Amino acid sequence: MYVREKIELSPHFKSVEFKCPHCNNIYINTDLIDMLEKIINSSNATKCVINSGYRCGYYDTIIGGFKGQHSKGNACDCKFYSNSVLIPSWKILCVCQDLFKEGGFAKINNYSIHIDCRKGSIYRGDETISNNSVTYNFYEYFKKRKEDVYEKNLNLLNNSNIEKFKGVLKND
Ligand SMILES: [Zn+2]
Ligand SMILES: [Zn+2]
Repeated sequence: MYVREKIELSPHFKSVEFKCPHCNNIYINTDLIDMLEKIINSSNATKCVINSGYRCGYYDTIIGGFKGQHSKGNACDCKFYSNSVLIPSWKILCVCQDLFKEGGFAKINNYSIHIDCRKGSIYRGDETISNNSVTYNFYEYFKKRKEDVYEKNLNLLNNSNIEKFKGVLKND
């Protein structure tokens, strides 16, 4: 479904956050909003700031050289925060890879990423290098492990090890 009105889209997003900065028109696919909410839930993010959402054909051509996913209302460039601390883009991109089997995901810089809800294909990019896919696997590309991405689970794991260790000390 595409939204053109000023409305609350979801717990974390209003449609005006996605308006074209050139003409102020709103046109946004709610599939993209569903993806953003899933990313927030899976990454311990508390906030997502939209740098760029919808771009009308005219403006998208000026910015990117052609009418891309932003001009179809399918894309945003954004950054995620966890309690006012920025989450690195590699971490969000790995989470996206785990969550979605189609769509577009790319590093823009260390903290900003491009996300789009294209159907039937996958784009996994690094726009600091090119506008084409650079990898099938962001974990390999960024040389990260699951434990690097899902830190909270690792902390739980470490805590349970500490508990065990205390037990051994007591027995001694
Ligand atoms: Zn415009
Ligand atoms: Zn983008």
